[in-house]
Amino acid sequence: MAGTRERVIMLADCQSFYASVEKAEHPEYKDRPLAVAGDPERRSGIILAACPIAKRRGVTTAERLGDALAKCPELIIVQPRMALYIDISLMITRIYQSYTDLVEPYSIDEQFLDVTGSLHLYGSAEELAALIQARIQAETGIYTRFGIGPNKILAKTACDNYAKKNGTGIYVLTPDNLSSTLWTLPVSKMFMAGSRMTRHFNAMGIETIGQLAATPLEKLKTLMRRKFGRNSDINAELYWRIANGIDDSPVTPGTHETAPQTIGHMMTLPRDYATLSEIKTVLLELTELVCQRCRSKGYMGHVVSVACMGADFDRPTGFSRQMKMDDPTNVTNQAYRAAVQLLQRHWDGLPVRKIGVSLSQFSSDGEYQLSLFDRNREKWMALERATDAIKLKYGDASILRAVSATEAGQARDRSKKIGGHYK
Ligand SMILES: [Mg+2]
Repeated sequence: MAGTRERVIMLADCQSFYASVEKAEHPEYKDRPLAVAGDPERRSGIILAACPIAKRRGVTTAERLGDALAKCPELIIVQPRMALYIDISLMITRIYQSYTDLVEPYSIDEQFLDVTGSLHLYGSAEELAALIQARIQAETGIYTRFGIGPNKILAKTACDNYAKKNGTGIYVLTPDNLSSTLWTLPVSKMFMAGSRMTRHFNAMGIETIGQLAATPLEKLKTLMRRKFGRNSDINAELYWRIANGIDDSPVTPGTHETAPQTIGHMMTLPRDYATLSEIKTVLLELTELVCQRCRSKGYMGHVVSVACMGADFDRPTGFSRQMKMDDPTNVTNQAYRAAVQLLQRHWDGLPVRKIGVSLSQFSSDGEYQLSLFDRNREKWMALERATDAIKLKYGDASILRAVSATEAGQARDRSKKIGGHYK
């Protein structure tokens, strides 16, 4: 029975994706350091991706262009071409799909493959990974790395911690080798453990993933309750399962076929909202939903739009405006800050019945996880990825921002509905 068979999951990652696409498009730059940067005209632009040669010269993702050029004056700078990167990403998806129909894009340059059913045609998992790797290299010029494991978390861990660092770009984590691999790593290397959680684990005396895995779940819950209260039980279990390499989430194909132009949410309120604080509450919830969807797809939006409408559709009131933020983001607090600015600038003070928020002008978050302008960003992203995972598993109502507990909060109600109908 397939149900009892151990799954074989791969996480395939494209090395320096944007930079690799540009190098494939420009063979004349093959042996030269190249970086993709937000705005090559401005030295204050940000490095979105750097090729391995540039990285060896000290160029790092998310640093200022001026700083990169100071270290590597001969650096070739090209402007990002998102449409091209999305095309190549889809082309790579189609190559994966010729080996299994279970392909799930995790971000623009990382995809999960469940090859359990097709593996017997190709030999071992490593042999199949090497075959796909060679084919993608030949057809796109891009080098891919493959983490392999019995589930998505171990595949991702195998890729980030081993396949990206060894000579072959392929690494297998199995339940048998966890004690000499995963469990020796510091907790900071654990999937979804940001710097904040790492500090908390360290304060509990937990330094390695193995120590976390070996902590009895009930004891971990008790330790975490002391710090985060009763509601932290879900978190405790999530981290404990990750540390033990337990994950039964399926590889879900077709999560995004093409990149959307906009990701947004619009909702009609149960009554007129007349005060700024009520409207801001809903605005935060909608922004949270939008950012959550962007994070799950690996997109960051550069433009945020807010629309508010009154109840009387014969005499329309309200506004619909957008603004470009300093940097692309999928961090709720950052997008919300911009959304509130729009609201405060354009709301006419009349009662509101319908509110919408959206993000657009996307780039990938895979190549851009750090911004030097905002040192909190990494922390927020890690935190929000963790809450997303919990919501995915336990439903949206499991974690609500404190503000949603107020009367204006709609998230708790909405999470019980699907497409406007109660489950
Ligand atoms: Mg990558």
